[in-house]
Amino acid sequence: MSSPLVTVERLTKHFRIGRNQTVHAVDSVSLDINEREIVGLVGESGSGKSTLGKTMIGLHHKTHGRVIFDGEQLPQDYSASDFQKYAHRMQMIFQDPYSSLNPRMTVGEIVGEGLRLHTSQSMSEIRDATAEWLERVGLNADHMARYPHEFSGGQRQRIGIARALILDPDFVVCDEPISALDVSVQAQVVNLLGELKDSLGLTLLFIAHDLSMVRYVSDRIAVMYLGALIEIGPADEVFFTPKHPYTQLLVESNPEPDPEHERVRESTRIQGEIPSPVNIPPGCRFSDRCPFVMDKCRHETPELLKISEEAVDRHVACHLFGEDLTSSDLAENQASA
Ligand code: SF4
Repeated sequence: MSSPLVTVERLTKHFRIGRNQTVHAVDSVSLDINEREIVGLVGESGSGKSTLGKTMIGLHHKTHGRVIFDGEQLPQDYSASDFQKYAHRMQMIFQDPYSSLNPRMTVGEIVGEGLRLHTSQSMSEIRDATAEWLERVGLNADHMARYPHEFSGGQRQRIGIARALILDPDFVVCDEPISALDVSVQAQVVNLLGELKDSLGLTLLFIAHDLSMVRYVSDRIAVMYLGALIEIGPADEVFFTPKHPYTQLLVESNPEPDPEHERVRESTRIQGEIPSPVNIPPGCRFSDRCPFVMDKCRHETPELLKISEEAVDRHVACHLFGEDLTSSDLAENQASA
């Protein structure tokens, strides 16, 4: 079994808004990501997924907690020299291929920028590397002089991938890299990332909404709700036998092409809105929306625990954990709620 490349310990990121309000974007998240592993991170908008990814690689100051990367504790707050030091090893692929590429720069300038900023390579070496990376992500090296607006959404995301990987990083946070793309090109981008992960030995945190796509690409799936990690385990196990009621509802509400299943999906849609991260409910964060809520859930916060001694890599934060909840249980419970 491979060892962790990234260890996150009780990582917390709060933002102050106004004089006395605090957004609890990420609260005490602990997580290991092993070398050459893809961990899929899922949850609704506002669950803190992107903030967690950005805080892990130093794009946000850490409020509390620590991140250990390849055996070395990362600084609480990055200086310019820290960015210089870690840019080679940790990169991010951004969500929106339309706004994340500078429209005034050519594709060659965008992809080669990291090498210009963080290495002492000559201009011709950078040009050669840029051409090679454009080909590697399925674009044409002759397109170097073109501008981002001349490309489709899928092609722009390929440019973003080349920009992130040209520095040969070990760890990449993919922040919803497919959510702004047409369904028809999502699978192509996911396949490209999977191929590059295998050929380059990358370790990825793959953030996305679409649980079925995350399952397809990930070794493990981690589920976030309102800033906290509430379930983690092998991808197929989390997808096919989710334990946490929120994960069960997330799986059931996943887009389902089969009309028969669509009817089940309608009956198990997650009720209500995710609460504001300014006002975290006491006890279990999911208690306001959970069809199985009990009295203790309203005042006791469930810890993320192993579900059994045998299932060492399966953890759930729920007072019910261990009980065998089925989809029909959920539908029945919601119907009577
Ligand atoms: Fe539902 Fe209680 Fe479990 Fe929270 S701890 S998910 S409210 S059953």
